[in-house]
Amino acid sequence: MVNGFSPATLKEALEIRARQQVIPYAGGTDLMLNPNPDAVYLFVNQIAEMKRIVQKDELLHLGAACTYTQLLEHPLTPAILKEAIALIAAPAIRNEGTIGGNIANGSAKADSVLIFFVADASIRLSSLSGERVIPIKAFYQDRKRLDLHDDELITEIILPTQWLEHYYYKKVGARKALAISRVDFAGLMTVKDGRIKHCATAFGAISGVILRRPDLDELLIGQTLAEASRLKAAYLASYAEVIAPIKGRVSAEYRKEVCLNLLEDFLNSNGIR
Ligand SMILES: Cc1cc2nc3c(=O)[nH]c(=O)nc-3n(C[C@H](O)[C@H](O)[C@H](O)COP(=O)(O)OP(=O)(O)OC[C@H]3O[C@@H](n4cnc5c(N)ncnc54)[C@H](O)[C@@H]3O)c2cc1C
Repeated sequence: MVNGFSPATLKEALEIRARQQVIPYAGGTDLMLNPNPDAVYLFVNQIAEMKRIVQKDELLHLGAACTYTQLLEHPLTPAILKEAIALIAAPAIRNEGTIGGNIANGSAKADSVLIFFVADASIRLSSLSGERVIPIKAFYQDRKRLDLHDDELITEIILPTQWLEHYYYKKVGARKALAISRVDFAGLMTVKDGRIKHCATAFGAISGVILRRPDLDELLIGQTLAEASRLKAAYLASYAEVIAPIKGRVSAEYRKEVCLNLLEDFLNSNGIR
């Protein structure tokens, strides 16, 4: 039995959050693994403002309390996000689990968060005293260390959709579904008029936070595919230097090799050979 408040509006929720110590509770799929009988929970899953899905120009605004099932069924959800979500747990978890909960859980294994990283999404943090919109990368200071104030809620994820069409996504786990990822990789590449207009990669589940290095991807942007092929070895070597998986159930060396293979496969699939 868990105790708490079930506000119907965001304003009401933020008032409660400002007034007393509460634990935000969205789907409870992470929280209820270890329920705290003394805690007071703030249930955010009935707040309409946090369940909206709205496209404005090239930005898709996703309410933090959107469940995976809701996103899977929605026509505006980009294919790359649907593909990642479809591999999260099983339908019962997807019916309750939310993207806000996935973000606030603070794990580098969070599958929807990988997509928010590769897309350079931002998140909206709301409190009674105002709002902040910050890049998702800045929200993660370290494993389980988040830039979330005690009076704030994550209310929205703002996803740029311009570069999402041409994607590569792989989740390497023990099983296809119901697997906690061991390595998660997403890559975006857009080639137009013979030149690479956009290149972005992200690696999940290898260290405390998801690895996203736009400074390394920069090497390929603006190049023709032939030029990029000549730079391929240098690009892979720059990632080999920064990919440093922590030891998990599977050895760090194995996971590093998997990461570099996925990166190379991503390049090959885009004609960079
Ligand atoms: C069997 C099983 C399989 C799973 N498989 C996967 C998987 O394959 N991939 C994966 O990524 N995850 C997986 N998970 C983990 C989990 O389902 C996800 O992380 C899910 O997205 C959590 O969302 P939730 O709404 O249930 O979060 P909750 O459990 O409600 O909350 C999680 C954390 O987020 C905080 N929080 C929630 N909403 C907000 C908000 N709006 N603002 C601020 N803080 C907030 C809570 O206080 C808590 O700290 C699995 C879990 C289970 C039990």
